[in-house]
Amino acid sequence: MKKVCGRREFIRMHVISGSFLGIAAALTRCDSASRSSGSGEKGPVPEPCEDLSGVSENDRQIREKAAYVTVSPQPEKTCSNCHLYLPPSGGKACGGCMLFKGPVVPSGYCTYWVPSQAG
Ligand code: SF4
Repeated sequence: MKKVCGRREFIRMHVISGSFLGIAAALTRCDSASRSSGSGEKGPVPEPCEDLSGVSENDRQIREKAAYVTVSPQPEKTCSNCHLYLPPSGGKACGGCMLFKGPVVPSGYCTYWVPSQAG
């Protein structure tokens, strides 16, 4: 868990600064063996996954800057097959993203989509 938080903070700093260069190289060095691509289910977005009441203004701005949407405009590119996606855990309904805190759904998408290295 501590390793993920460190990676999240690293990535967040690059997004905040407007720089995304180097992230792909950094990610190739990260261990992604423990991650799965989630269910990949399509369908209605669970309501809790749209609740941003516990999300800081900073993370809301990062989410907005990344142009996150709950339904991807590009069906072949969704959060569920993004390398930065964090599948739901601990019985939670929503997944997450390494770029910002707050709920993320498998059907979502943002401009920082990175192909999953699973497979
Ligand atoms: Fe995060 Fe964007 Fe990837 Fe979704 S597509 S997991 S919001 S980086």
